[in-house]
Amino acid sequence: MQKKHSTLSDLFRITTPAAALAISLVAPSSQAEEDMSKPEIKVEKKKDANGKEGVYMYIDGVKVHETDTAKQPLPPVVTPGDKPGAPPSDAVVLFDGTEESFKANWTDTRGGPSKWNVVDGAMESVRRAGYIQSKQKFGSCQLHIEWASPAKVAGNGQGRGNSGVFLMGTYEVQVLDSFENQTYADGQAGALYGRSKPLVNASRKPGEWQSYDIIFHQPRFDKDGKVTRRATFTVLHNGVIIQDHTVLSGGTGWNGPHAASEYKAHANKLPISMQDHGNPVRFRNVWVRELKD
Ligand code: MG
Repeated sequence: MQKKHSTLSDLFRITTPAAALAISLVAPSSQAEEDMSKPEIKVEKKKDANGKEGVYMYIDGVKVHETDTAKQPLPPVVTPGDKPGAPPSDAVVLFDGTEESFKANWTDTRGGPSKWNVVDGAMESVRRAGYIQSKQKFGSCQLHIEWASPAKVAGNGQGRGNSGVFLMGTYEVQVLDSFENQTYADGQAGALYGRSKPLVNASRKPGEWQSYDIIFHQPRFDKDGKVTRRATFTVLHNGVIIQDHTVLSGGTGWNGPHAASEYKAHANKLPISMQDHGNPVRFRNVWVRELKD
């Protein structure tokens, strides 16, 4: 006779490694203090129309393998872009290569018109014009952005093709011509500036278009401004992973002699911004998809 699985531990004994993995993947990430090997599963025994008893498992109140879409809605259909890097159907396009798109979506940091140029379908940083920022504000998001450092190489180290992409106008993914241009590791292209060096240097040559695909989860603060969850970054540089769910230990701004600022509480949504660091770095094909935390 087949043994009846009357307790949770019995059930776990029959759980395959693959099933255990699937269960661990759906467990919320905020369970740092809990035992991650024991997800909260409710078990229900029910007889079907033929009187045959079945065992059903529920995670977070939803039946595993639920087919009723009223109880477990299917993921929305998103049409991917027609070529790699093109915006999918549900993206907010922040720059499509046109002057109109630039004016409609970007300002200087005071909300006025920016002095950056639109050249050959790209937004180009202008020395002393300051940062640009998106009119629309974002929190956690997926961001695609393409950039090119100047084809004509000038300067070295941090002075060569320097700019930056700032999530929430605050947390910098470094943009730098890091092709055969040595600088400190936590300041080269793809670094979370001063916090986390990229896993590899996937830089293309100066003047060539490069891409960042960034998955960013914003930090959370309590009402006293204390961090309750740190920000995380996953970044692909030209399709190569360079930040693998990196937890940002603090801000990327300056704190005395180093970029080692502390977290400072801020709004839930803020503009995305790009840096004027004095070098004519170009950006194009910028789109965002907001993420629910
Ligand atoms: Mg920079």
